[in-house]
Amino acid sequence: MAIRVYNTLTRKKEEFAPLQGRRVKMFVCGITPYDDTHLGHARTYVAFDIVARYLRHRGYSVFYLQNITDVDDRILARAPEVSVPWDELGDRYFADYLKVMEALNVTSVNLYAKATDYVPEIIEQVEGLVDGGYGYRIDGDVFYEVAKFEDFGKLSGVKLEEQRAGARVEVDERKRDPRDFSLWKARKPGEPHWASPWGEGRPGWHIEDTAITLAHFGPQYDIHGAGNDLIFPHHEAEIAQAEAYTGVKPFVKYWMHTGFVVIKGERMGKSLGNVVPVGDIVREYDPEVLRFFLTYTQYRGPIDFTYEALEEAKVAYRRLADVLQRARQTLSEAGKARGKGDRDLRKALAETETSFYRAMDDDFNTREALAAMFSLTTTFWDLLEKGLSAGSLKEFVRGFEAYGALLGLFQPGTARTSELVEGLVRFLVNLREEARRGKDFETSDSIRQELTRLGVQIEDTAQGPRWRFI
Ligand SMILES: [Zn+2]
Repeated sequence: MAIRVYNTLTRKKEEFAPLQGRRVKMFVCGITPYDDTHLGHARTYVAFDIVARYLRHRGYSVFYLQNITDVDDRILARAPEVSVPWDELGDRYFADYLKVMEALNVTSVNLYAKATDYVPEIIEQVEGLVDGGYGYRIDGDVFYEVAKFEDFGKLSGVKLEEQRAGARVEVDERKRDPRDFSLWKARKPGEPHWASPWGEGRPGWHIEDTAITLAHFGPQYDIHGAGNDLIFPHHEAEIAQAEAYTGVKPFVKYWMHTGFVVIKGERMGKSLGNVVPVGDIVREYDPEVLRFFLTYTQYRGPIDFTYEALEEAKVAYRRLADVLQRARQTLSEAGKARGKGDRDLRKALAETETSFYRAMDDDFNTREALAAMFSLTTTFWDLLEKGLSAGSLKEFVRGFEAYGALLGLFQPGTARTSELVEGLVRFLVNLREEARRGKDFETSDSIRQELTRLGVQIEDTAQGPRWRFI
């Protein structure tokens, strides 16, 4: 079955077919490193990490490129506030970002491209736009003349008057039209600068994306992703720059945008002062719980963040993690005998496979994919009572881990750690059992207490002790 992707440009779900066979060129707008990595970033980058993982799993060779806006008004404004040189500030927050991404198991980006490494390409593109009549120069600044590009607004559907009133459009009396945006900014005192045909200065914001993608992908590529707050004016500007510069349309085949993170009904945003840094959350929660929480909504839907919702997600996450842990534990103890639940488990596994892939093929619907895993979880507990053989348990574990890997959950890295942890817990549980049988209650109670303190609960059943993480 084909994968279907919602394309912001056409406003409908389309069958996914890359421009060149099985090769996929994917670009996602990266961060401006001037402050802590927040929940909105986590949401977008987890979503596109899953898109890349899933496409690769389905046999596509994906090159995932992300830019880093390492020179920008916001960095230059923040640096003196915190008395740190602008480039050091950028390095610091980019390092913070990478650390957060690692904690969240975001692993699929092939290349992070820093804007300052592409200044010659940026200058070349601005020159081309000026030569082609799309750019005009005032003093040492260069602007893009939006009126020259007929298709401006085709992605966002924002009408001309709204475009002029657009909140993010830079105000500058010298511009021919309020919609015109900066391609090159003249040097200001104390700011970093590069030599250019228009004098010393630095790149405008939108131009870096198209200079970077043209350098790596050429005039056309498959997927451009970002949060939906960047559709206007940023992505309209990208289209205007690229299509005017190369003459090739459409510059991007599929535009994909993630939904907002909402806090108490309000969009999360720097200007609203309600930004939640990822660092605040992962101090208290396992980053995997946060990743699960973000994955539990399809990428286009809004996410309403509250700590109560995160608590609920933690409980739901544990339902899946517990079943995998129990299956691994039972597998390590299971004999060769056939189980009464084997046949039904295999049937349930086949059904899960169908529903999981159907959900992911339908515009990466991770919510439905997780629903298929929850339904399998319920079946598993029923069938475990009936009895399961090592063979069917192994299939279950393998399947569950494979779905987990596509979503970036229950991954081998932590699986190795959890194997070790589980082995140690099992060892201690057995020691306690021996002590209990030998009527050494002091030892058995102290092991039990210590394990409880560490978050492991032991339950004595007719079949012997069982344990689980609390
Ligand atoms: Zn961008």
